[in-house]
Amino acid sequence: MVKELKVKPIENGTVIDHIPAGMAFRVIDIIAAGRDLKKPMSIVMNVESSGIVKKDIVKMEDLELRKREVDKIALIAPDATINIIRGFEVVEKMTVKPPKRVTGIVKCSNPNCISNQKEPVVPEFDVSSTSPLKLRCIYCERDLLDIMRNLV
Ligand code: ZN
Repeated sequence: MVKELKVKPIENGTVIDHIPAGMAFRVIDIIAAGRDLKKPMSIVMNVESSGIVKKDIVKMEDLELRKREVDKIALIAPDATINIIRGFEVVEKMTVKPPKRVTGIVKCSNPNCISNQKEPVVPEFDVSSTSPLKLRCIYCERDLLDIMRNLV
């Protein structure tokens, strides 16, 4: 533990661990989309890990993730763990899990899909495979091509 965490502990905030190597900035993009990020954060990339070959870690001070953010992170970092820190202690540890159904956080990559028309249709996907993660639109039944690009 001491060996792999090379940045100093945070007093209050969130540590997102076990992000696939190279995906840390995408995780931050998800969080930054809904907030004004002004507090200190640290990013450790390409750390050796036992479970997966290399991983990224993101530490954000004075920030606790919202459910919507956790749901989005699950789509791009399905093995991530989220530790909530208060007073230098881990008070909550969560493993993100891709849901069976994904509603309202990603849009269909098919421009002709009814969920991309003017009708108020909330985009919804079945998870057709978890490794790698594949989402199939329940309306047009096409596979979503680029999850990251279609996050809403
Ligand atoms: Zn569709």
